[in-house]
Amino acid sequence: MKSMPIVLPTLLLLVLKASGLSAFGQFDPGADGLASHWSRLPVEVIVDGGTLFGGNEGLRMVQEAAEIWNGVTGVPRLFSVSEQADSIDYRLDNMDVWNVLDRRVRVVFDEGGEVLLNSGIDPDSRVLGIADTIADSTGAALQGVVIINGHPTVSDFPDTVAVVVHELGHILGLTHTPIGFGGLEPVSRANRPTMYPFTESRNMDTLEADDIAGVRSIYGQGR
Ligand SMILES: [Zn+2]
Repeated sequence: MKSMPIVLPTLLLLVLKASGLSAFGQFDPGADGLASHWSRLPVEVIVDGGTLFGGNEGLRMVQEAAEIWNGVTGVPRLFSVSEQADSIDYRLDNMDVWNVLDRRVRVVFDEGGEVLLNSGIDPDSRVLGIADTIADSTGAALQGVVIINGHPTVSDFPDTVAVVVHELGHILGLTHTPIGFGGLEPVSRANRPTMYPFTESRNMDTLEADDIAGVRSIYGQGR
């Protein structure tokens, strides 16, 4: 079986608490580190045809998340999301169809967590989603994949849009922000950057100055 080429998983974890601290160790700033970039914008995003969220709800959520990034000024339009979901349901057993180096991003709704498990991540953990990019030797992205954990233990998380916003930030090349944790001064929940690696609740789907500065540093004109 072909395995998912997830080299440097970048994780959004649900809850930071005692048992979550071991999962926190999965974030390695060195490994998470340097990021690929897209040499052509907007990046085309194609959405899983599966119906984890019912009908076209998943497509709508990805479109909403992409528009949040598209609202950043001072950079070209970042994402272009397919108007219809793909005609196929992205699953572990048809990865060869959607896991391809075609300079596009695919959003996978991993209904039972099988794709995550195949990537070495326990879908029964508090990981809400992961993002991965494959790049050439210059760092130019050849592929992006976002996997949303649909395992029953986490699929009732109330703000999937926020998870997609966070993962699309990774796709753009952003790593986790150091603001608000890791010995730095805490930041109130409302003001946490989207690229904060943990979340507890909804209303994380707005960009903060740190997120915007990050994306401008990669794609801003005249940088
Ligand atoms: Zn993350």
